[in-house]
Amino acid sequence: MQKKVTQGALAGWRRIALWKKILSGLALGILVGALLGETASIFKPLGDIFINAIMMLIVPLVFSTLIVGITSMRDPQKMGRIGVRTITLYLFSTAFAITIGLALSTLLQPGVGVELSFDGEVAPNEAPSLVSILVDLVPRNPLDALANGNIMQIIVFAIGLGISLTLIGDKGEPVMRVFDSFAEAMYKLTAIVMAFAPFGVFGLIAHVSGQYGLEILLPLAKLIGVVYLACLVHVLVVYSGFISLLGRLNPMRYLQGSLDAIVVAFSSASSAGTLPVSIRCAQKNLGISEGVSGFVLPVGATINMDGTALYQGVVVLFIAQMTGVELGMTEYAMIIATGTLASIGTAGVPGAGLIMLSIVMAQIGLPLEAIAVVAGIDRLLDMARTSVNVAGDLMVTTLVGKSEGELDETIYNGANRATIAR
Ligand code: ASP
Repeated sequence: MQKKVTQGALAGWRRIALWKKILSGLALGILVGALLGETASIFKPLGDIFINAIMMLIVPLVFSTLIVGITSMRDPQKMGRIGVRTITLYLFSTAFAITIGLALSTLLQPGVGVELSFDGEVAPNEAPSLVSILVDLVPRNPLDALANGNIMQIIVFAIGLGISLTLIGDKGEPVMRVFDSFAEAMYKLTAIVMAFAPFGVFGLIAHVSGQYGLEILLPLAKLIGVVYLACLVHVLVVYSGFISLLGRLNPMRYLQGSLDAIVVAFSSASSAGTLPVSIRCAQKNLGISEGVSGFVLPVGATINMDGTALYQGVVVLFIAQMTGVELGMTEYAMIIATGTLASIGTAGVPGAGLIMLSIVMAQIGLPLEAIAVVAGIDRLLDMARTSVNVAGDLMVTTLVGKSEGELDETIYNGANRATIAR
């Protein structure tokens, strides 16, 4: 009898769509954190286990997906076209994001009247030069790149290996089959890890929500509000607009299909860590091929940070307003240019955007110590910007997939049936 009840409950749990379970984990985590305060960190290990598990997937998943994608595409010209489209869309959407951040911050003036003291010294960071970025793309030792999880170097090696496997014809078949089967196993493992996502998200959020009392949040409530508003506008208006105007696709499906990845990004504040979930959403929910998702998403998780760029726009204006510095059109243009570059150099890990903020601040001569004012609440802003970073990667992947005929519209239009835990 008891066994039947347990089986029934398990079957009922399985029938609930994964995104609903993840969202419930999120809501429950916020509530438990608010009620228990710092004691809620007892749930943090649940979140840590989940993060470790998805990090464990990144290297083998990206490597095998990309090799399978390239060997199945068998067209170097198409690869080149996908590369150019990807980079162009990424740059364009980032410049758009920072402009939205600047516009809303100018309009809503979050820094006017804020009186918070700051002191201490902060050394400026330097944006990496284009030449050094290019040189570092090529790994000296691919095993080293794999061991250290250097995604861009892994991509370069996987593309080289994939192309070579196709060039050697029949002799490449056995290795291709190995990667094919390895990639399938990695997809399965991702599905297994994702079944744990609702608990992991709960643990992560309970810990974060338990840490912030009103006394920390209130003085900066307007800044937090403007960053969140700008993020929402960017995803709901700009991304949805791109999807329907450029891709001629239903934007609701894009949002629904990306939800798992967006929530995991929100709770983990790491777009690199969310990569396995994004790849799964792209393939299973949005119907995008292995070749396109295996290339566009890892590149995006490394260089496309729309949320970070937008956040930099808002925060730089916030600090200028708070310290009474007037900025003209030239400074605005400079913020867009340096913010876009700084966001490209930002790693997809928690807190990286805060460190890169000093590049933009130094460029327009704002006091770097003022960064201390936002540091206390940065995790909350990080959660929002990381969600946008990941949503942006999925938006571009959808558009590139559509333009290359690598998006299966029957899967896209039935989005989210696949998120029912299997
Ligand atoms: N946490 C962000 C990400 O992983 C980067 C940032 O701090 O802006 O995408």
